[in-house]
Amino acid sequence: MTFALHGLPVSQGIAIGHVHLVSHALLEVNHYHVAPRYLDDELERLNDAVATVQGELIGLKAAATSAQTHSEVGAFVDLQLMMLADPLLIDAARHLIETRRCNAEWALVQQMEQLVEQFRQIEDPYLRERQADVVQVVERLVKVLLGHPGHLPPKRRDGLGTIIVAHDLSPADTIGFRDHNISGFVTDVGGPTSHTAIVARSLKIPAVVGLHHVRDLLEDDELIIVNGTRGVIIVAPDETIVEEYRLRRSELEIERSKLNRLRDTSARTLDGASISLLANIEGPKDLPAVKNANADGVGLYRTEFLFMGRDVLPDEDEQYEAYRSVVKALPNKPVTIRTFDVGSDKALNGAYARFEPNPALGLRAVRYSLAEPQMFLTQLRALLRASAHGKLQIMIPMLSHAQEIDQCLALINKAKAELRAEKIKFDEGVQVGGMIEIPAAALSLGMFIRRLSFLSIGTNDLIQYTLAIDRSDEAVVHLYDPLHPAVLKLIGATISTGARYSVPVSVCGEMAGDPAYTLLLLGMGLRSFSMHPGNILEIKQQVLRADLGELAPRVQRILKADEPARIREAVERLAG
Ligand code: PEP
Ligand code: MG
Repeated sequence: MTFALHGLPVSQGIAIGHVHLVSHALLEVNHYHVAPRYLDDELERLNDAVATVQGELIGLKAAATSAQTHSEVGAFVDLQLMMLADPLLIDAARHLIETRRCNAEWALVQQMEQLVEQFRQIEDPYLRERQADVVQVVERLVKVLLGHPGHLPPKRRDGLGTIIVAHDLSPADTIGFRDHNISGFVTDVGGPTSHTAIVARSLKIPAVVGLHHVRDLLEDDELIIVNGTRGVIIVAPDETIVEEYRLRRSELEIERSKLNRLRDTSARTLDGASISLLANIEGPKDLPAVKNANADGVGLYRTEFLFMGRDVLPDEDEQYEAYRSVVKALPNKPVTIRTFDVGSDKALNGAYARFEPNPALGLRAVRYSLAEPQMFLTQLRALLRASAHGKLQIMIPMLSHAQEIDQCLALINKAKAELRAEKIKFDEGVQVGGMIEIPAAALSLGMFIRRLSFLSIGTNDLIQYTLAIDRSDEAVVHLYDPLHPAVLKLIGATISTGARYSVPVSVCGEMAGDPAYTLLLLGMGLRSFSMHPGNILEIKQQVLRADLGELAPRVQRILKADEPARIREAVERLAG
């Protein structure tokens, strides 16, 4: 029977394909009883998994020591090795297999839950946090037990794609889709500016999130249609519906190809102002998209994607190569590279992961960098070395305190001094800028302007922190409002203060790539927009029809308003 489900549209387009159900978390394992005659085999499975994970951890420690990337890795690995040998975990799981005939995964997860509960009762915060290590060790074991297939299916032969259906997906999972034939994804949770959604848009994979219990309503291999533009999925469509959606999909492709005619047109407003349209990227793999869109450069290179989803972090040379290749591929164009913005929904793996009660307010972005100065210095050295090859700029995320800026600048100077002493070339005049993503920053611009060469407004986080709503939680997504008067005032003030002091300001959050806000931002005085490359031509179309002389006074009036309905109407009228 055909039926439709409604969620949040986060990545445009139509996908038709077969469902591939992905388990919510690795630890959501099957529960079954093992027949008595197979109990020895089950114990053997567990022993083999323990031996494999021991081998992995020893290898990880050796790699981390030789790469000298992280001083604490060795200690964390030792701790996890100790847990593997701990009778409270492994022997107890063995006991559950022998006495209750549980399968090995189930036995491990049960025992893990018990231990986590015991850790939770501990007062000492350091010991309490060790519950994360127990979970990670068990995750490693379960991965091995399941023969962890990277849980992506092979390419289908019938020409239809695979639609991933999951409770949630991490940005690292999503980026893994790039190498598979994944045509769409749908999830129970998530919001439009979660990093997972941002990655889906950059991969141009249609996606719908916030569908609540979608995973329970679908079956593996079932045919579904994902309408990422409207936020709807159609389950078990008949041939007529599939045909209709095929037609819509080709119409969308025609519209896109019409936009392609703007590729070589300069982004100038009707009254002649030149607007810079830059690309947001996650790594060198995005370069073809940057070139296709003929972007004016890169306004945000999210380097944390080089660090995520791996057990050993990239060393200086690997990072240097990833930065240099982008700078070299875009001669004479600015490339703004953001230092790693890890933490919150962009957690690192294993020993680098942290267990925090409130990760969005915890040790993320620049806070993490300053807490791991060696890791930060490695990145700064790699960035400076790459700066010798083009117009590279360094950008620091999530700043809120003057001392954070001063500490970053001091570390950049230290990295420069090291390179000078080693006679390694870099751009002595490399510009350093900061992101305005926290209301406190937008309300104290003086201290940023005095210390930094440019600013970039991260509207995704600025909205999250101004309105106190988690950007990846679909339960509060209806409150995520870029047109909230408080948000508009913070953005407007940042743009006008930058202009007054001749400090360039750009916007690199999702608002910059949404045509609904282009005229508003232009009217506020914004001249530099950074977005995922797939949106550049659509935004250019808006720029070409804008008259700044006419927009500016109307937008000034909008900035003074504080009645949401009026603001919304006035913004819609800007296009009319
Ligand atoms: C932002 O917060 O708007 C931003 C561009 O950074 P990210 O989305 O990576 O947090
Ligand atoms: Mg941000």
